[in-house]
Amino acid sequence: MTSPPLDAARVAARVDPVTGSGYRIGFDIGGTKTLGIVLGPTGEIVARARIATLSGAEGLLDTIHEAARSLASASGLDVSNVDAIGIGIPGLVSARSGVIEHAVNLRIAKPVALARLVRERLGYAGDVRVENDVNVAARGIVEELGLHDRVVSLISVGTGLAAGLVVRGELWRGAAGIAGEIGHVPIDPHGPMCGCGQRGCIEQYASGSALARMWPVAAGQQPASSMFDAADAGNATAVAVRTKFSSALATAIQMIALSVDPDLIVLGGGVASVGEPLRLAAANALRERSRHSAFLRALRLEERLIVASKGSTTAAVGAATLGP
Ligand SMILES: [Zn+2]
Repeated sequence: MTSPPLDAARVAARVDPVTGSGYRIGFDIGGTKTLGIVLGPTGEIVARARIATLSGAEGLLDTIHEAARSLASASGLDVSNVDAIGIGIPGLVSARSGVIEHAVNLRIAKPVALARLVRERLGYAGDVRVENDVNVAARGIVEELGLHDRVVSLISVGTGLAAGLVVRGELWRGAAGIAGEIGHVPIDPHGPMCGCGQRGCIEQYASGSALARMWPVAAGQQPASSMFDAADAGNATAVAVRTKFSSALATAIQMIALSVDPDLIVLGGGVASVGEPLRLAAANALRERSRHSAFLRALRLEERLIVASKGSTTAAVGAATLGP
């Protein structure tokens, strides 16, 4: 559904130098597609633009510029009148400085001062924030579900595995920005080599790429849905893969639960597009462990688990709300 264009002159006239216009822009940069949205004063999406992501630092700036132009024409807003711009990106990001250290999927290998460059390219004097994709998705879930007074963790099961933490509306990044990078906790010293240089990391078992390795499928098929279907049908190999995957995921959930104790643990990322089978697999693995542990049973972790909805705007909404 597209919203009617805003009356640009009316919005400009309404921009209060102290309270601002109430409009924000969020970009969810993916490896192949970029989604931009304009969020209105009451949190409604008033415009959206979906375009192909160009690679490299210059390509990324062109992509953001193009998406901003589309948003301006779809909404009637002048970009310079928005209160804040937020960008979610898959890669290693310094949120404090707005610098991308590297983003393999976007073919960015050297640091890029994205916040500053976006300000220059868009001629925008306001606040530009940059965050990694898992953190903006976690922020977006809090926004969409209205969980600002809660402790929420998103465990993103995508190419790798990482958690985003939002504590009473604020992203918890830690001292060096690595809070939640639990995918690189080794759980098997004899396991497969991980890109991080260690062996048997959690994400070598509980991630989309681990599933693709353990359950190879034909091109165009999704390893996760194929594996869950085959396991449900009783295929012994699929059941073994599901057990390995679920056990590593349950360990990730326990790590987050026992260190942060969130009200809600949301399973998200690419693998979560299978929906309920993912939650069931994790809940069953936790329940199995609980059979022998009164301690674990008392925590009722499986009752705090949900699967992220397939809503494609969550990360962009999270990005739009990063700023003050
Ligand atoms: Zn690792």
